Amino acid sequence: MEACSKRDFFKLSEPDLKLILESAGFERYRASQIFDAVYKKKIFNPADFPSIPAKLKSYLSGNFEFAVAKLIGGRESEDETKKYLLELSDGARVECVLIKAPSEDGKDRKTLCLSTQVGCACACKFCASALGGFVRNLSSSEIVSEALPFVKDAKFEFENIVVMGMGEPLMNMDNLLAALNVFNSPEKFAFGARRITVSTCGIADKIEKLAEEKFPFRLAISLHGATDEVRRKIMPITNKFPLKRLIAAAEKFAASCGRMITLEYILIDGINDSFAQANELAKIARRLHAHVNLIPYNNVEGLNWKRSDAGRRAAFASILKKAGIAHTIRREKGKEIDAACGQLALRGRRAAAVER
Ligand code: SAH
Repeated sequence: MEACSKRDFFKLSEPDLKLILESAGFERYRASQIFDAVYKKKIFNPADFPSIPAKLKSYLSGNFEFAVAKLIGGRESEDETKKYLLELSDGARVECVLIKAPSEDGKDRKTLCLSTQVGCACACKFCASALGGFVRNLSSSEIVSEALPFVKDAKFEFENIVVMGMGEPLMNMDNLLAALNVFNSPEKFAFGARRITVSTCGIADKIEKLAEEKFPFRLAISLHGATDEVRRKIMPITNKFPLKRLIAAAEKFAASCGRMITLEYILIDGINDSFAQANELAKIARRLHAHVNLIPYNNVEGLNWKRSDAGRRAAFASILKKAGIAHTIRREKGKEIDAACGQLALRGRRAAAVER
């Protein structure tokens, strides 16, 4: 396959590129022109790079992969949610979604929701991505590619990135970290670390590793159950990493990375929305100094659960309020939600709440 023989451009540093160009007989200074074209002007086709001689353009096209995913479909809904379908080199498809939602300060912010895997192995009981099982990890450049359609006037159209699409990001750690580095690195897209949030279902050993490596990005943990008994019914990962272990890992993360963690909690009718759970959740949040994001469950075809009603959601939230826990309740967006935008769009919408 053509794609396999080419080098992944996004993985290269500027000094790497200088050396490569030099040994191929081109001037070293071309590397900074190329970096400027890709990372500042956000042009991803060498044929369009300004000030680059034709010979070098064709060398670059022949030897480097710039955008590994092909855009095969896209649509925009009334509320300016944009969804693109990308096809990867092996024909696998991922959706990437841009959500526009008012933030707490009343300003509209655009958030890009990224996928890290095709399918997912974690088998959370409420999740549409889990239904088809795990297919494969995305490479780092495939993850980066998801952002490339969202460029306007040489700028990314989004102000935040959330890794809340398909897949469990911490089960594809190396590629995730490499991709986030491309976004964040000052010599590359220079996208601020505090505007990037990674959401995990709670892979405790990987959270500990992130703590050790002083992960600079934000972390959200999908909790969805405040005791092992309840959480186990919803998320099988609880069997591997019970809450005690998960909370200890999160505590280590918060201490070493100095960032407030977000706990995501979907309210599912009769499953995890009891007041006893709210009290337990408050204890966990207090211990972690975490912000809680309460989310109305979005019904998934083929699954029997339904969302807690508005009254229950408010009562649940008032327990957090009394306990002094910072929290956000996502309001139901109702008709505004374009059903065809699928699960990803809903997650992204919710994700806007993480970015405070
Ligand atoms: N695996 C990661 C990221 C993908 S899921 C994680 O678990 O965090 C991103 C978020 O979407 C998670 O909080 C997940 O719980 C939520 N989600 C999945 N299905 C949902 C549904 N049917 N309704 C509401 N939120 C859902």
